[in-house]
Amino acid sequence: MSNHDPNCIFCKIIASEIPAYKIYEDEYIFSFLDINPLSEAHLLVIPKTHEETIDTLPEQYASAIGRALPKLAKAVKLATDNPAFNILQNNHKRSGQEVPHVHFHIIPRTENDNLGYRWHPKQLDEENAQQLIADITAHL
Ligand code: AMP
Ligand code: ZN
Repeated sequence: MSNHDPNCIFCKIIASEIPAYKIYEDEYIFSFLDINPLSEAHLLVIPKTHEETIDTLPEQYASAIGRALPKLAKAVKLATDNPAFNILQNNHKRSGQEVPHVHFHIIPRTENDNLGYRWHPKQLDEENAQQLIADITAHL
């Protein structure tokens, strides 16, 4: 079973209603070039079901993405002769998500590309860590 949102741009790509520069496709996933690349060979990998965020993605789609990401990343590495890349995945517009259909970015990184990679880390303290372990594992 897959979900289809007729208003979703990525669902339209999956349904071939709008074009995309396809890199790979199987029963569960679709991969294509990002139309506004942050770097050469910036790819997107999406499940062939409409879910806004990864936490509700059915397991068969999540597994297919997990299987494909290393292969696609390896192909990008070999094609660009560049060992450096980020895999990013945004959830909710507060995180930077613009298209509300789960997608992973594979973004090759070059010297001096000015994309950055360091955010602003804080210190984790013992009490906070123990509380988080309890709170999060209670929901697993
Ligand atoms: P995000 O900010 O994580 O939601 O990223 C959405 C990405 O989708 C951006 O990098 C866009 O450039 C890309 N994008 C949006 N529409 C298309 C499209 N029709 N074909 C390819 N990439 C797209
Ligand atoms: Zn969709």
